[in-house]
Amino acid sequence: MQKPRGVRIEEWKRAVLKVGSALITSEGVGCSTKHLLAIASFITESRSKGKDIIVVSSGAVSAGLSTQPKMMRKIYRSIPEKQALAAIGQPLLMASWNRFFDFPCAQLLLTYDDILNRTRFVNAKNTLLELLKLRTLPIINENDTVAVDELKVGDNDNLAAHVAVLAEADLLIICTDIDGLYDADPHLNSDASLISEVKTIDNHVYSLAGGTQNPLSTGGMRTKIAAAEKATSKGIDTIILNGSRHEYLDQLQNGSVHGTLFRRTQNPIASKKHWMLHVLPNQGQIFVDAGAARALRTNKASLLPSGVLDVSGDFSQGDAVQVFYRSSDSTEKIAKGIAQYGSDDIKKIRGKQSYEIDKILGYISTNAVIQRDDMVLLQ
Ligand code: GLU
Repeated sequence: MQKPRGVRIEEWKRAVLKVGSALITSEGVGCSTKHLLAIASFITESRSKGKDIIVVSSGAVSAGLSTQPKMMRKIYRSIPEKQALAAIGQPLLMASWNRFFDFPCAQLLLTYDDILNRTRFVNAKNTLLELLKLRTLPIINENDTVAVDELKVGDNDNLAAHVAVLAEADLLIICTDIDGLYDADPHLNSDASLISEVKTIDNHVYSLAGGTQNPLSTGGMRTKIAAAEKATSKGIDTIILNGSRHEYLDQLQNGSVHGTLFRRTQNPIASKKHWMLHVLPNQGQIFVDAGAARALRTNKASLLPSGVLDVSGDFSQGDAVQVFYRSSDSTEKIAKGIAQYGSDDIKKIRGKQSYEIDKILGYISTNAVIQRDDMVLLQ
């Protein structure tokens, strides 16, 4: 047996395992068994130890492509074409996974709406938990055939993080074709070294992510870091791992990570705040002065119109907005919250006292532009 090395992770009970297109297809087309064999044996062994595994698998579009004449493969570009290819490829992808297991696989196709909408979220969660109870292997992909861009999570890294939260997993494993996060681009810099552990995901960590090198991948390192941020803030350890290296999967089985481990935060945020921060789309920005920034941060106060300097974006009452502290020389994101007034009305009441709202707008929703309970402070 291999000697375990690398960073240790705590015992886990339920993992979401994301497998990227690069590991599923061979040269961009079809489903290849080359890398999936090692991943499948990791899944089987984990399940035999009583752990739950949920797979988030990419590869529907490339599996669909394999059915098309060779000369046509490069010209499928439009959204309906990709949606059609996903519809053709999704059953092929499932068939490919099914071959590895003697227990049933179950297909779930989700869209952003299933995460955003509370009723659909609970419904998806109930189904998923029931599938685990039945000891099936849930295999999830985005519902590419119906979801257009605005209704999509857009990449399976972030989808996997949402699934990990939904399934109350304690581990998210993102399998890709490179070893993890490096301190410089390993394609350009031979001295780049692998970062084995990240305790806090800040701007510096994001700055280490380049774009995607692989034409098949939707994501790249940035979406993986964003996924890690979503998961770790909810108490879920996240690993980026080279899924083409069976020895790394073996080591992980022994609790040792050869890849990058993003440690979960010790104080996970509450579900409502997580939803607000990581699920609700940003519809605009509110810029505040030093006094308001201090009140939000230190007194955990509501945001009053008097501290608002400026507004951007076109949003309505009830939309989620980001709050920035703007000083003479910098702008810093400090919070996200639900606006009590639309952007046009905030422009009219910015810099004013709360008692003036009624007079200026002809109505009053609340004294605050964002109520304290509807706001999540960053950091
Ligand atoms: N849902 C896409 C597919 O199955 C992949 C998206 C992704 O890899 O991020 O083809």
